[in-house]
Amino acid sequence: MEIAGSLGAMFEAGDEGFETARQIWNGDIQRRPAVIARCTGTADVLAAVRFARDRELPIAIRGGGHAVAGHAVCDGGLMIDLSTMTGVRVDPLAGTVRAQGGCLWRHVDHESQAFGLAVTGGIVTHTGIGGLTLGGGIGHLMRRFGLTIDNLVSCDLTTADGEFLVASVDEHPDLFWGLQGGGGNFGIVTSFKYRLHPLGPTVLAGLLAWPMAEAGDVLRFFRDFVADAPDEVGIMVNLRLAPALPIFPQELHGRPIVALIVCYAGPMSEGEEVLRPLRQFKAPVLDTVGPKPYVAHQAMFDPAYPHGRHYYWKAWKLPPLTDGAIDVIVEQAAAITSPLSAIPIFTLGGAVARVDDDDTAFTGRSAAHDVNFVASWLPDDPEPERHKAWARAAWEAMRPFAHGVYVNFMSDEPVSHVQVAYGERKYARLAALKSKYDPSNVFRFNQNIPPAS
Ligand SMILES: Cc1cc2nc3c(=O)[nH]c(=O)nc-3n(C[C@H](O)[C@H](O)[C@H](O)COP(=O)(O)OP(=O)(O)OC[C@H]3O[C@@H](n4cnc5c(N)ncnc54)[C@H](O)[C@@H]3O)c2cc1C
Repeated sequence: MEIAGSLGAMFEAGDEGFETARQIWNGDIQRRPAVIARCTGTADVLAAVRFARDRELPIAIRGGGHAVAGHAVCDGGLMIDLSTMTGVRVDPLAGTVRAQGGCLWRHVDHESQAFGLAVTGGIVTHTGIGGLTLGGGIGHLMRRFGLTIDNLVSCDLTTADGEFLVASVDEHPDLFWGLQGGGGNFGIVTSFKYRLHPLGPTVLAGLLAWPMAEAGDVLRFFRDFVADAPDEVGIMVNLRLAPALPIFPQELHGRPIVALIVCYAGPMSEGEEVLRPLRQFKAPVLDTVGPKPYVAHQAMFDPAYPHGRHYYWKAWKLPPLTDGAIDVIVEQAAAITSPLSAIPIFTLGGAVARVDDDDTAFTGRSAAHDVNFVASWLPDDPEPERHKAWARAAWEAMRPFAHGVYVNFMSDEPVSHVQVAYGERKYARLAALKSKYDPSNVFRFNQNIPPAS
């Protein structure tokens, strides 16, 4: 098979490179597309969409390939692979960056930080900007600079008809609204343009850890600390067994810990003062907080989430933590079944909460946190179902405290759960938008919003 007008590589079953090209981040997902089109740019993407349309092939879009449910790869359809579209150009005078749709966060951070600039990105640098941005984008800098989508200026987009358009507040504003949180439902973004902010390149950042036995106290202290923390404080919690990584001293490897991960997006001396209570309330077993390149902090979690390992997760957004919610989190941390599983908790608020919920498709800006029950295990682990069952049970136990769900942290929930992510009113608006821009649901391998009709 050949895609007319395409420069990029194409793979079918049996071709050299096919088996590698169909792999995504989550090794638990194994699907076999009929064709993989590795696009070199917008021209290839236009050609690939027209090719699929003519043959009525369903399309899966591979950005960074990190959607835990494996939306980047389908059985039997066309996988449009953007992974080599990683060009980035910073305009330091305008304070913007333009990045191709297959970039990972490490590409954007690398170029932006050369100019001492940054935009809110994900906390693992091998995550794609494509899926992460289109779902909203939460990360270390969000309380200071807002979600990734709050900094989105425009998108170059290939539609389900194989046409090109630009979406921004001035051009196709309805579509632009939908792209700010509505996921990959409306087209293929070949280029994102973001506003940048001065940051670093050195920031005050790092990790503080305590034994898991202290988790209740740490979480209660954390709750009180974030209640009036300034926007500059990016802070998250992680509960797990300390992995055997260089950041942890050997004596901690395999020990259950509760950690606070901080990144101060402001002047270093001010940050020392603001973060001091974290160091004083109870002596940590590990304190790595200090001046650090922002790109190094961004990469801190990278080795803990390698490609090819098996993953399954469930998540909720949460209001400020109550004692009851803390008790559940502590119980579920104690019940973890795999040494590789973890419970990361993000902290929203600040600039995220100051944007009106109706301004973007992203929903639930008043949430204080996002808790994720991440099950992870090695490919040869004999008990995958046990690890998945832990994530499901923890998620159910947390349900009474839930304040919605972040669409990018959903996995195999039914389509009805997508409505939970957006709420009834916004979901209806998104479904109407889908009818306008993708009435045949060509882009359906995602947290799908079927057309209204
Ligand atoms: C290790 C890890 C860490 C994470 N950390 C964070 C975090 O800190 N903050 C956060 O907000 N989220 C985070 N996530 C969740 C992440 O936002 C989603 O998994 C997201 O879907 C990843 O995007 P991707 O491009 O890598 O994924 P893919 O699997 O390639 O794509 C996911 C979805 O987006 C669509 N898509 C991707 N690129 C495009 C494009 N260019 N145009 C149109 N549609 C596209 C695809 O169709 C698919 O439906 C993390 C995920 C992982 C696995």
